[in-house]
Amino acid sequence: MGRKKIVAGNWKMNTTLNEALDLASGIKNNTNNTDVIIFPPFPFLKTIIDSFKTINGFYVGAQNCNANSKGAFTGEVSAHMLSSIGCDYIMVGHSERRQYFKETNEELLAKINQALEHNLKVIFCFGEQLQERKNNQHFNTVETQLNEVLIHLPKDKLSNLILAYEPVWAIGTGETASPEQAQEMHAFIRSVIATLFSNTIANDMCILYGGSCNAQNARELFAGKDVDGGLIGGASLKIEDFTTIIHSFT
Ligand code: PEP
Repeated sequence: MGRKKIVAGNWKMNTTLNEALDLASGIKNNTNNTDVIIFPPFPFLKTIIDSFKTINGFYVGAQNCNANSKGAFTGEVSAHMLSSIGCDYIMVGHSERRQYFKETNEELLAKINQALEHNLKVIFCFGEQLQERKNNQHFNTVETQLNEVLIHLPKDKLSNLILAYEPVWAIGTGETASPEQAQEMHAFIRSVIATLFSNTIANDMCILYGGSCNAQNARELFAGKDVDGGLIGGASLKIEDFTTIIHSFT
C-alpha cells in the first residue's frame, strides 16, 4: 500500500463562524480520493466536527495545543480537550508559532507527545529561513529540526505523524519553492527519517510541502515522487482554489 495523498488547509486566525461553516461545507463537497484535513480556529472546531465528521476522507485538526496535560495555564487548550471534542489532528511547529510565540524544539516535542498520548495525529512543520537557504545551510537546518524532535518519539506512534516541509521564505510570501527544490528537500527528509528509524518507516511517512502552494502550482509541486501533498495557507480560504489543489495529483 502506497502513502496517502493529503491536502491540509491552515486557516490561521481567519473566518467568522458562518464563514467557517460555509468554507468547510464547500470543501467537503469537493473531496476525492485525497485525504483532506482542515485546521479552523479553535472556537469553530466543535461545530465543524459535529457538522462534517462523518464524511469519508475529511478530517478536522487544531492549529495548536499546550505542551502540558492540564492545569493553571489560563487561555490555553490541551490535547486532551481537543481529543474529547473529536478532533483528528494537531498542527505543531508552524513557523508562525516558532517565530511569534518563541516555541522551541523542546516545547514542540512536548506538544507532539501530548497529542500522541491522546490518540491525535500530528502534522509537524519545519523548514529553513531565507538566509539559511542563501547560505546553503537549508539541509543542516532541516536535519537539526528533525533530529531534535523525532528521535525522542515512540517508534510505534510514528504512523500518527505527518511531516510538513515549509520553507519560511515561501510562507505567505507568494514565493514558492520550485518543484525541483521541493522534491530535493523531501528526498533528503526521507533519508533523514531512514537514518533515524528505518527505510520502512521513511517510505511510509507522508511528507507535505507548504509555502505559497496554490491552484496554479500545486500539480507541478505534487508531481515530485517524495511530495505526498500540501499544507496550504492562503489558498485554503478559497473553496475553488482549495478544491483545485485537492484535485492536483496526477
Ligand atoms: C502555511 O501557513 O502553512 C502556509 C503554507 O501558508 P501559505 O500557503 O499562505 O504560504
